[in-house]
Amino acid sequence: MHIRDFYKNKKPVVSLEVFPPKTEDRTEIISRLVSKFKELSPAFISVTYGAGGTTRETTIEIASLVSRLGFEVMAHLTCVGHTTGEIDDILSRLNAGGVGNILALRGDPPKGVQNYDHTKDDFRFAADLIRHIRKKGIFGIGAAAYPEGHIASPRISTDWAYLKEKTDAGAELLITQLFFDNRVFYHFLESVRKIGVTCPISAGILPVLNAGALERMISLCGASIPAEVLAMLERYESDPEGLEKAGIEYATAQVQDLVENGVDGVHLYTLNRSDWVTQVLRNVDLDRWEPPEAWQFWQPGAGEGLPHGVNEDYHRGG
Ligand code: FAD
Repeated sequence: MHIRDFYKNKKPVVSLEVFPPKTEDRTEIISRLVSKFKELSPAFISVTYGAGGTTRETTIEIASLVSRLGFEVMAHLTCVGHTTGEIDDILSRLNAGGVGNILALRGDPPKGVQNYDHTKDDFRFAADLIRHIRKKGIFGIGAAAYPEGHIASPRISTDWAYLKEKTDAGAELLITQLFFDNRVFYHFLESVRKIGVTCPISAGILPVLNAGALERMISLCGASIPAEVLAMLERYESDPEGLEKAGIEYATAQVQDLVENGVDGVHLYTLNRSDWVTQVLRNVDLDRWEPPEAWQFWQPGAGEGLPHGVNEDYHRGG
């Protein structure tokens, strides 16, 4: 099944992201993890690709494993530093492993490499990779979106114009970078719909479970932290368990609000943990959630008109 089919008659579509563990027992770890995900019935599970291709083999291995275990799979694939031949090899092995969907990314240069020259790569931007994958006609294609603009982009509007290029090139689904303020997402959604991005957009959600991990993540992606989250970090500075509990409550409230505002999909960055994922999805109780009759579901090629609470006053960085 291709991702475009998931969004035709379900809202929100729940997807979960896992990463390939570095240890030898990775297949056991992932088998145990996804067996716990079974009862949550995610539409698909995505498997990350280590920065600069560092998990090439284990991403193929884990994505194929998750497919064998009965899930629809989306494998992340970055093109930075890869030749066309390498990309084709990875794609054909993923196809052989039963993986039907690719999250096509440019990716970041390997750690420590300064002033990387993307012009020397066979694929300079994600849109180039998307065009290449689309020509094969085998895979469903997703791409990354940045509600606060990509960290290296000089202007948020320029980044969103490039986002439109990715959907024009063939991306059928967008999954967002994490964000902690839903107003950021609603503003992004309204802005990109206005410039003709019509495909489903899944909101990427990461709970605040640990202050150090949050700091590392923010330094990589540049997401802003609202005052409410800063206060939470301060309040539970010396109480890790309290912080985790508050972080799960915050993520629950975020997801609940997104669902009520008609989000196409919710993509949970699981961090290879089932406990918080289960709690958030149980708290929101999506099984019993009934969308209002007036809502329209996404159809291929259709424009969007979702009800959502846009805050016109929101501006990046205040
Ligand atoms: P692009 O869309 O190519 O954009 C990269 C930069 O170039 C942006 O600043 C953009 O504005 C600019 N740009 C785009 N097109 C043009 C153009 N034509 N001319 C000039 N500038 C242009 N990384 C991993 O290594 N592994 C993963 O598994 C992974 N999964 C991710 C999942 C999600 C949901 C998200 C949001 C990100 C993920 N990333 C992952 C991070 C991602 O690889 C980085 O953010 C990377 O820096 C950009 O990748 P991209 O595909 O968005 O690139």
